[in-house]
Amino acid sequence: MSEVSAVRTVKTRCPKCGEVFPVTLTSELLEEAKSNPLGLVGVAVPHSDHVLVAYFDSNGAERGTRVFAALQAPEKGLYEVRIPLRDVKGLRNIAGFVIESRKLNLRLVYSTRSISTSIKVSAPDTSLEVDFQRDVSYSHVRAWLELLVDVLENSYSTLPLDYINTLRIFDVMVEEQPFTYAKQVFWLVANASTITIKPRLPESLLVKKYRPTILYEKYNGNFVSRVIESGGLKVSDILGSEAPQVLFSYAETVLSLYRRGVIDLVIE
Ligand SMILES: [Zn+2]
Repeated sequence: MSEVSAVRTVKTRCPKCGEVFPVTLTSELLEEAKSNPLGLVGVAVPHSDHVLVAYFDSNGAERGTRVFAALQAPEKGLYEVRIPLRDVKGLRNIAGFVIESRKLNLRLVYSTRSISTSIKVSAPDTSLEVDFQRDVSYSHVRAWLELLVDVLENSYSTLPLDYINTLRIFDVMVEEQPFTYAKQVFWLVANASTITIKPRLPESLLVKKYRPTILYEKYNGNFVSRVIESGGLKVSDILGSEAPQVLFSYAETVLSLYRRGVIDLVIE
């Protein structure tokens, strides 16, 4: 099968204004859905004063849509948000970062004075530049940044906190060897405010009643209980602004409960 035959066009309707748009599904997009923890890939269609994001699974079937208000008219350039120090306190490797997303028409900027190394990576619609406050292993960092920019390219949250939490986790992870599974955790955190937790019945009641050791020993038991009792909360509400290691472990727990069929994760 040639590259071209792997591409097809589907139609999607904006739930806000009713307009119908053609969406081109490339083989890269469908591949992205395969590696995504929810099995989904989003496609953004900015129009009028809002942005439609249609989500597709790896078969190209539409699996839901989300609409958000455009941050500002694209002709005014990227909407810039400067992140205050108090929101990112405790960073130990990162001195600053700039995330630019053309899909979201958003630029997030956080910077301090002490900069020794700055590395920039790009995806088609997203760029990520990170300044480090001390020497870091270039090959490590490069691999982590490639993974991270790929996550940001496929993220559609407009809440800065989602990205701040993602970068706070990256700040700690960058000291370790990169591993592919981290991409799923980063994606969940970067999209946390767009995803609602829906405990499944009776699975969540059974977990609550029998407290399987496989979950309650591997993960923080109190947090497992909070998740399965969280009906209707966003992932961002349950993650909060904990320490980066805690955030990572909480996000892993949410993904694990999802994979075990205890909860549903629904993009809204
Ligand atoms: Zn619309």
